[in-house]
Amino acid sequence: MAEADRALEAEEAGQTVTGILKDEEGMKLVSDMLAARIVDIKPQYDFSTELGFIYPVVEQTIQVKGKAAVSLLETLSDKGILKRSFFDKILRCPRCQSINLRPSMRCPKCGSRNIARGRVLEHLACRYVGVEDEFRAGGRYVCPRCKMELRTMGADYQSRGVLRKCRDCGEVFNVPLTNWVCLKCSSISDDDKVAEVSIYSYSLDETKRNWLEFELQPKVRFLEFLSRHGYRVTENARVKGRSGAEHCIDMVATRDDGLVSHSIAIGIEIAREKIGLDRVLDFDVKAYDSGFHNKVLIVVPELGEEAKKFAQLQRIEILEPEELEKVLIHGVPPAAVKTDKEPFEFKSKSQLVQYLQEQGYKVNKNAKVEGRSGAEHNIDILATRDEGIITHRIAIDVEVGKSPVGLDKVFKFDDKAYDAGILDKVIIAVPGLTREARQFARHQGTKVFETGQMEPPDEEDPED
Ligand SMILES: [Zn+2]
Ligand SMILES: [Zn+2]
Ligand SMILES: [Zn+2]
Repeated sequence: MAEADRALEAEEAGQTVTGILKDEEGMKLVSDMLAARIVDIKPQYDFSTELGFIYPVVEQTIQVKGKAAVSLLETLSDKGILKRSFFDKILRCPRCQSINLRPSMRCPKCGSRNIARGRVLEHLACRYVGVEDEFRAGGRYVCPRCKMELRTMGADYQSRGVLRKCRDCGEVFNVPLTNWVCLKCSSISDDDKVAEVSIYSYSLDETKRNWLEFELQPKVRFLEFLSRHGYRVTENARVKGRSGAEHCIDMVATRDDGLVSHSIAIGIEIAREKIGLDRVLDFDVKAYDSGFHNKVLIVVPELGEEAKKFAQLQRIEILEPEELEKVLIHGVPPAAVKTDKEPFEFKSKSQLVQYLQEQGYKVNKNAKVEGRSGAEHNIDILATRDEGIITHRIAIDVEVGKSPVGLDKVFKFDDKAYDAGILDKVIIAVPGLTREARQFARHQGTKVFETGQMEPPDEEDPED
């Protein structure tokens, strides 16, 4: 669960992968890792390059080389997308930064580089110590100092093992002094003075897989889907709720088709395991407080049983990956819906019907709708539009008469729509509404179109 939470944290911090991976290269690289086309990004030594190593996979996949490749990989690991693991250390000349260094071994006593390495023998009689080669004399061992022959190991001579001996000062030692000769600038640096650079290999942080997969694939398509349906989308929208609290909603999609404007609150919950009730509850509270009737929750990988029941009860449309995919494949309108039309102006009922049809609505005149109470209602015009994720319904009441429409009619219409569960209500009144009817309609969130001149509009324009 802790891992899942971390993925969520990144979500809540308003991070989008597209924001992190400003460039296409990073996206391509991460996509390839998700698809397992790349497993690990390992460095390879290449002393002909400035860095001394390359990331062949990065060069091949996205043509990014050298320092740019390292900086991209480092950015991705800083953001928690990739995990670093230590690969090796590379030494650099402290003077010229070259990586072409050659180790140089010296006698720890006199600093000479004239060192011999081999089995070291000691002649017990004269205490002479030297490498084996010094004693060799035509198949025999002869002490170079006292010229006596060495006969029996352990009796007149002994071996001290493989060691080093300085040919200049005679010092016998195990560990030589190492320093580094730069092949570029010829400077010699002590072992503790050379710069060490750690190099890493990189792999995908598997705890982020679901989140990344969603961000890079369905999310991009989902945004495109909403835009084709004529929605304007705000990601990580800050919405002030009725309670006064400010909420952050993953996506708010708004569409104004001239007649009504409607918004959908879209939540995105991604974890490694089933999403629990708490997350759905949290989204529902936020959406309710912010006044959203249309609620869609995208969950990856899936919703728990209890959470599912709750979502159904609260009329939250749940999209698990499979359903989301279906929506994305089948719910796309053939042509993008235009919403920047002239504001709707009522001239006649047939003109209204045509307007709705142009907006992609299925229009039902004198529609019979069964309410929650079981009663059957008659609605002048019922406009329905299947938007793939939600079905948008508008109840339209057309009142044409000689005098302004009174409160009773507006009240009746509101009651009908409520019982039928239709949230978008429009009253078209010719010549208009009485002041109290208009006030009531506005209070109930009903959009009012008045076309008569019988009553002058009051200061607060009904079409705010
Ligand atoms: Zn000797
Ligand atoms: Zn020496
Ligand atoms: Zn150098």
